[in-house]
Amino acid sequence: MKSKYADLRLNEDINKIEEAADCIKHGGIVLFPTETVYGIGANALDEKAVNKIFKAKGRAPDNPLIVHIASIDMLNKLVQEIGEVEEKLINNFWPGPLTVIFNRKNNIPNNVTAGLETVGIRMPSNGIARKLIECADLPIAAPSANISGRPSGTKIEDIIEELDGKVDYILDSGMTDIGVESTVVRVIENKVHILRPGKITAEDIKKLGIDIVIEKQIMEECNPNEKVMSPGMKYRHYAPNTKCLLIYSDDENKLIDKINKEIASGKNILVLGRTKHLNKYKTENKLDLGESLEDISKNIFTLLRKVDSYNSDLVIIEGVKKEGLGLAIMNRLIRACEHNYTEIN
Ligand code: AMP
Ligand code: MG
Repeated sequence: MKSKYADLRLNEDINKIEEAADCIKHGGIVLFPTETVYGIGANALDEKAVNKIFKAKGRAPDNPLIVHIASIDMLNKLVQEIGEVEEKLINNFWPGPLTVIFNRKNNIPNNVTAGLETVGIRMPSNGIARKLIECADLPIAAPSANISGRPSGTKIEDIIEELDGKVDYILDSGMTDIGVESTVVRVIENKVHILRPGKITAEDIKKLGIDIVIEKQIMEECNPNEKVMSPGMKYRHYAPNTKCLLIYSDDENKLIDKINKEIASGKNILVLGRTKHLNKYKTENKLDLGESLEDISKNIFTLLRKVDSYNSDLVIIEGVKKEGLGLAIMNRLIRACEHNYTEIN
């Protein structure tokens, strides 16, 4: 059966959002936009509804979901306490793309948190997401909209094939703004540990006078049997079927030379490069990452979904400096390349 579909690209039809919210109230699951990526949402207090999300995505049951809220009142009903540092983060970055881990109350079903004593919560800034939560008057548990392992959905055209019929309702508002999932943080002894980098950067948090720890798993390969602070990090994610190689150098000329050498090797290579470099590559097979970090963040998932159609032997992706939003971009790209990464000095 096909999912119900509402086109909100030109006009935010509140009647359709109310219909989708009603679906959530009755135990259904809804594909909806946020400012980061699309999510698949269910009533976070309804274990059965949440199970439908795991089934639709084929998500491992030990990978917890983020709960989306629209008010501090909702937060108070879900968490044990809000510490001073957490409060500072909330005051500065909510609503927005920051997920904060809290000690949870027992009203949250175990499948939402994958049995953990903590829960990840965020207040999205996207107007449709906010209205959906407000109309449902419920916290909404929502992972990214994609089959597990695939790149997260940033526009409906990319994910309709894999999710149509698996969700009850689809709210389409065009391409999402940020393009990478939220920053996930946990406060331990007054320090903010970054478990997953995103649009809210380590530098943004440091500016508040808070100490930061960037978890090493962000760039390293995790052993699937190892206990990690952010369970999502241990899963294969974003990788196309074609082999990918990520290359970065601070020196642009060295980067371009290295990629052209690979192209000259005779292999059929597809290059994903920055706009200003594209005409320097001696191949017809290239895709434009965009120029600014904001462009690249917005484009990476939709581009990663395109690469297999080129049937190339190898995809070479230009890396960026691991600073600011660049850390989030590199975290996603290094995983798309399954840690096949070269840095040239
Ligand atoms: P996704 O919903 O696909 O963006 O993935 C959400 C990610 O947030 C998970 O894969 C975890 O890595 C992280 N996360 C959610 N809840 C928690 C939690 N309670 N503790 C640590 N990490 C969490
Ligand atoms: Mg995801």
